[in-house]
Amino acid sequence: MLGLMQDWPLTVDKIADHAARWHGEQRITSRLADGSITRQGFAETFARARRVSAALRSLGVGPGDRVATMAWNHAKHLETWYGTMGMGAVCHTLNPRLFTEQLSWIVNHAEDRAIVADAQFAPLLAKILPDCPTVRDVIFLDPAELPPIGDGLRVHRYDELVAAADPTGVIWGGFDERTAAGLCYTSGTTGNPKGVLYSHRSNFLHALMSLQADVFALSASDVALMVVPMFHANSWGLAFAAPAVGAKLVMPGAQLDGASLFELIEAEGVTFSAAVPTVWQGLLTYLRESGSRPTRLRKVAIGGSACPEALIRGFWDEYGVEVIHAWGMTELSPIGSASVIPLELQGQPYENTVPFRLTQGRPPIGVEMQLSDDENRDVPHDGRAVGRLKVRGFAVAASYMGGDGQAAWDEDGWFDTGDIASLAPDGTMRITDRAKDVIKSGGEWISSIEIENIAVGHPDVAVAAVIGMPHPKWDERPVLLIQPRPGCTVDAHGIRGHLEGRIAKWWMPDAVVAVESIPLGATGKIDKKALRADAERGRFGTLG
Ligand code: ADP
Repeated sequence: MLGLMQDWPLTVDKIADHAARWHGEQRITSRLADGSITRQGFAETFARARRVSAALRSLGVGPGDRVATMAWNHAKHLETWYGTMGMGAVCHTLNPRLFTEQLSWIVNHAEDRAIVADAQFAPLLAKILPDCPTVRDVIFLDPAELPPIGDGLRVHRYDELVAAADPTGVIWGGFDERTAAGLCYTSGTTGNPKGVLYSHRSNFLHALMSLQADVFALSASDVALMVVPMFHANSWGLAFAAPAVGAKLVMPGAQLDGASLFELIEAEGVTFSAAVPTVWQGLLTYLRESGSRPTRLRKVAIGGSACPEALIRGFWDEYGVEVIHAWGMTELSPIGSASVIPLELQGQPYENTVPFRLTQGRPPIGVEMQLSDDENRDVPHDGRAVGRLKVRGFAVAASYMGGDGQAAWDEDGWFDTGDIASLAPDGTMRITDRAKDVIKSGGEWISSIEIENIAVGHPDVAVAAVIGMPHPKWDERPVLLIQPRPGCTVDAHGIRGHLEGRIAKWWMPDAVVAVESIPLGATGKIDKKALRADAERGRFGTLG
């Protein structure tokens, strides 16, 4: 006998069991659709998750079946996640902000068997479900009246179903850690959406990785406000990481405006939170306008798109809140890097640390990175040269569901992220653009992200987007589109003055155009595809 260690499968039901047994009284606070607040412990939550598993069984859902959710962040959504995954079924998060055709396409591609939803999405489901023959059961999470959503579907109330479920003999773990647990589709800015199928093992290891000091550093003494929606790349893993250490969870429902978030932050003593830049901009604006100060909040993770310097400084200079700039994507579960200050910068004046904070940080254990050019040749990791960022790791997709989009992986298993970045010898990574947003002027790359970040530092600018426009001599030149802050007007001359000296001369946008609003996509990021379509229609003039 060899005498190896125990084979303890890394399945997420173990996270639930750990939280229920050792942190059973630790609370989950949720804001519901009607604005009311509920509180429940981990023990109660995960006991209900087992009942969800039993309830799904009673509807004929079995291991391997896909169960979709369309819901905001609240405790019942979390119960549904664990109930589904705990029995070996696959929890498929749907983003309600997608177009109806995209949603029905995704539900059909995933062959979802049931949908668990907030009642407010009933009208949306009524539109898509007639085209989705695989869905047989719809379960509404709110106790309200059951809204009509179409013929041939069995409609249930979650509370009744869970109360009636018999949890004895329920399936709860006991399967291989390589079993599929979750499913999330990328937004499909090019081609059809693609499914990323997370395994129990990848979710479990990703949770451990995200908890380390050089990433989120969460513990049982933290109160984590989960702003990033559960349908946006697994809520960046917080639905697994927080219970794994027994951190108190605060789930804000649909109200993600600055005032509502601040109310929860103060009432619940939030110490940590994570969200995209637009959400944090909303909170910062609210704090400034209302003169409020967060008491216990010590750090916020910002990612999903590049974090502007003005946001990093605003949180620190005015409120003493540290920003962890993180990079990731759906295909990575999602964390790929985080900008936690390294030893050599600790104790230095804040000013000296800002250039590092503006990078996307360093890869934690479990994420391998490298850069390649378009011919798949190595690009040096010297902190200057840029190339296509490629990754491998225990929480990186090995393919898309059903083998779609296989060209994103090379023969050595490296996944091409579609991001253009530089990589320093110590792993400090800086994204300059998405490959599809790159602007090539006279054969040289201009970083739209860098120009945007500097532009939003101007006091009159609310949102900035740089796109490339065709140019007869230089092939492409950058155009800066600006959505002014309410009550402000944008003076192109003033904006150019603000950029001067901060960017290379030849990066200076050929035009600065004020627009009423810059469109955002389904995960709150600037929709450059829509802006480029506007540009093609001549909305921003021509260059030359
Ligand atoms: P999508 O936005 O297509 O729905 P994701 O949410 O998975 O899909 O987005 C991943 C992409 O978001 C990354 O490939 C990268 O382009 C961008 N991104 C994420 N975090 C950052 C960051 N901190 N800085 C710059 N870009 C980021």
